[in-house]
Amino acid sequence: MKRATVLDARGKELSPCSEDRARKLVQTGKAELLSEDPLVIRLYRTVELPPPKPREAETHPLQGKKLLLHICCGPCATYSVKRLREEGAEVTGYWFNPNIHPYSEHERRRESLAHLAEQIELPMIWEPGYEMPTFLRAVVGHERFGERCLICYRMRLERTAQVAAREGFELFTTTLLISPYQNQRAIKHIGEELAEQYGVPFYFENLRRGFAEHYRLAREYGLYMQRYCGCIYSEWESLDPEASTHPRRRSTPSG
Ligand code: SF4
Repeated sequence: MKRATVLDARGKELSPCSEDRARKLVQTGKAELLSEDPLVIRLYRTVELPPPKPREAETHPLQGKKLLLHICCGPCATYSVKRLREEGAEVTGYWFNPNIHPYSEHERRRESLAHLAEQIELPMIWEPGYEMPTFLRAVVGHERFGERCLICYRMRLERTAQVAAREGFELFTTTLLISPYQNQRAIKHIGEELAEQYGVPFYFENLRRGFAEHYRLAREYGLYMQRYCGCIYSEWESLDPEASTHPRRRSTPSG
């Protein structure tokens, strides 16, 4: 059916209407006909349109939400915290990384994050202790890259979900989502499973768009930049392409 363009008395374009309705408005003296083809009418009155919709930031699902952010290291936190805050979240950081070996490296990354947290006034929950034996026991028999990573993600995200539930957070997520070296699909899947289990939604966002910026920000804040992912296997793989756990090798650690 033919549609009519409708203007108000000041010439402001309104929503179009059907041809029948347009002709009725003209016949009843409520509008004048400006053009037959295309069909355009002008009302004799002005119409105030509803105010524009609020901007995206004001309606973002993170707006005003208490969010617990698992943080793997200071550099990955730079862009992630900035982005989540811009989207309106009240971000609290959470440190639990028993996958970082050796202990001196764990402490170096933890101190670097503390340095950042102070600069950007980020409230933090620090998991005390160092649960390296728990991590190593969990990956026995699954040492290959990729396979052990699934265990590693679950271990860290599960503790984050537990703390989020206990402390009354509305959402949880992780800085692991910024790294192109991590399996983002698996992280999302595990996060959503844990969300169901612990009753706190997992917030997924592809933070990789900020990966280049995170280097710039890390330099700006003077943060320590690590050379390997975290576990002792990843350190080996970063130095030795022949490491039997290496993703490019077919053999198993024992084979
Ligand atoms: S490579 Fe990284 S993600 Fe994979 S198990 Fe080691 S520390 Fe965890």
